[in-house]
Amino acid sequence: MTEIIARPESVAVRVQDALKRYGSNKQAALDNVTMEIEAGELLAILGPSGSGKTTLLNVLAGLESVASGHVLFGDEDVTELAPEQRGIGVVFQSSMLYPHLTLLESIGFAPKLAKVPKDEVNRRIMEVTSWLNIQHLLKRRPSEVSGGERQRAAIAKALVTRPRLLLMDEPFSAVDAQLRRQLRTELVKLHRTIGTTTVFVTHDQEEAMSIADRVAVMSNGKLVQIGTPMELYRTPVSSWLADFVSTQPLNLFDAHVDAAGRIVLLANSLTIEGSAGHPEGTKLTVGVRPEHVALRPVVGDGGRSGVTWRVLTQEMLGSVVKYVVSDGRGNEVTALTTADDVIVPDMTVSLSIQLDRCMLFDATTQLAMRTPVAGGTYVS
Ligand code: ADP
Repeated sequence: MTEIIARPESVAVRVQDALKRYGSNKQAALDNVTMEIEAGELLAILGPSGSGKTTLLNVLAGLESVASGHVLFGDEDVTELAPEQRGIGVVFQSSMLYPHLTLLESIGFAPKLAKVPKDEVNRRIMEVTSWLNIQHLLKRRPSEVSGGERQRAAIAKALVTRPRLLLMDEPFSAVDAQLRRQLRTELVKLHRTIGTTTVFVTHDQEEAMSIADRVAVMSNGKLVQIGTPMELYRTPVSSWLADFVSTQPLNLFDAHVDAAGRIVLLANSLTIEGSAGHPEGTKLTVGVRPEHVALRPVVGDGGRSGVTWRVLTQEMLGSVVKYVVSDGRGNEVTALTTADDVIVPDMTVSLSIQLDRCMLFDATTQLAMRTPVAGGTYVS
């Protein structure tokens, strides 16, 4: 974030206690959402379908009103302003280009309408289209360019008005996976160049975590957590969030604190020293990411604890391999390791968990608890 030099027109945004309910829906689409977006940052709004992401974006755009609460751009209260009065650019999933106009005419449409002098319009079009690498396509109509090029033109159309805030709703979800990755990288580069405060909605955690400066996670109309991708990954507020921001499903184990103050899990086959003062009998859930579990082949009677694990499945994911192992007593653990051909199904393995990466959650609320361990690796 520090590399971004915000242009004067970039604006900080504040949403205060925004409440939005559609008709008689019991569940509010926005349930008293409060958040701050820093000037010049690239913020992703991430959440499952129906969590309120589009509603929040539309409230920022002025396309939806709130029942109560406020939206501020800098010090200006824009809650009652129409979209065209807000100084925003909007990009939707499918581009809003005019089918009968060339890209040049579509991109220049809004500034011309706003009576920006012709020379200035042309200068801006050249600027934004060179950022987006579409200068050579300006004479074509939307039907004569690819899906990715259409989305680039849609972004150019949004930027040519010099918005103080750029809003994007699932801008890359209509293009194929490979092109989507390319467009994501281009968006990051573009954002570094122009520094316009940008908010984009996505349901794809990988997309959000890989390109955003910060990610705001929504669920049931509520803002669950907002932070850098690393903060969400390292210190999630709940087991749901920890799992939701993971590429691979999180291992979640029932656990309790024993008389010696240790956290015991996996039917006594794993003990974590030091429970950070949680009393004996405290029930909790321990979250372990598959990438923090390592496997090693063993011969004989297993590891230090005497527990042996058997490889059930092996799934090749490119540079990494996913394994599911079982202790034969009903416990299964998912591990992610770099690809090699040493470990194969049916093999007996020992299991190492990076203890400093274990996450503790209250067994009832599933909210994060203090983490007990300073470091070390458990080996079974
Ligand atoms: P998301 O973008 O995360 O999928 P939305 O913001 O579109 O979620 O929707 C949030 C909630 O509001 C959902 O329960 C959805 O069904 C409801 N909703 C959205 N738009 C409307 C609408 N126009 N009329 C009634 N309910 C709506």
